[in-house]
Amino acid sequence: MTFDFDALAIWFSTFKQTTPTALSRGEYGVRAGIPRILAMLARQGVKATFFTPAHTARNFPASLEAITSAGHEVAAHGLLHESPVGLPIEEERDLLFRSLDELEAVTGKRPRGYRSPAWDLSDNSIALLEEAGLQYDSSMMANDFQPYFARTGDKMTDDKITFGVNSSVVEFPVAWELDDYPYFHWSARPYNAGLRSTEDVFGSWKGEFDTAYAENGVFTLTCHPEIIGRGPRVAMLERLIEQMRARDGVEFLTMEEAAKKFKAAFQSEEIG
Ligand SMILES: [Zn+2]
Repeated sequence: MTFDFDALAIWFSTFKQTTPTALSRGEYGVRAGIPRILAMLARQGVKATFFTPAHTARNFPASLEAITSAGHEVAAHGLLHESPVGLPIEEERDLLFRSLDELEAVTGKRPRGYRSPAWDLSDNSIALLEEAGLQYDSSMMANDFQPYFARTGDKMTDDKITFGVNSSVVEFPVAWELDDYPYFHWSARPYNAGLRSTEDVFGSWKGEFDTAYAENGVFTLTCHPEIIGRGPRVAMLERLIEQMRARDGVEFLTMEEAAKKFKAAFQSEEIG
């Protein structure tokens, strides 16, 4: 279970919507979403990973305290929810290290993983995550339920792909099918229909989980307090968690724990 705790940063930085009502949609994640999600996770005894921009941590320390004191993991998600794509390497390095320093100052613990706020990386990102000592990333889509080691140094031309080498960074792939935003988020700019019924989404996610279970995989769901935080949606997620737990052998792990397990099993093997 992963939650991207974007708060106001996504509206301010990514959507460039800075009017009071637009920004208040981010504040909804703080006021309504986080308490409801934390209560549900506590009822279910599930520990989750919260990818958090430094901007959110700096401005909402009480929410961060509630997250960490419940035993959840806080991981990196940009300084102000910015995309690393197109940044000069020095600037990307500076943003990454500043975000890690700020999260550590608020939570008392150095983050172990990263999710790009854009779900997109620069050619330098994986090498920088390695340089920063991070264990995992969760931003790419080369598989669905099997993690893999992210590569550095891939070269793509019109006629040939030359693959680089595996880094030490474990990639937990993401998918739009497993993100609450495309299903639920309504926006006129750009037009995004959203507002799907919870039953529809439950069906999609349950079907995806059944595949992950059959293939002994890692099911990574990306939710956002400002989106999933409404009552019926949290109730749907709780029902999904209950149905997952009913299956033999299912474990709920933070990404840090899952990365550790993956590395213990596969560190010495060549993953193509
Ligand atoms: Zn985000």
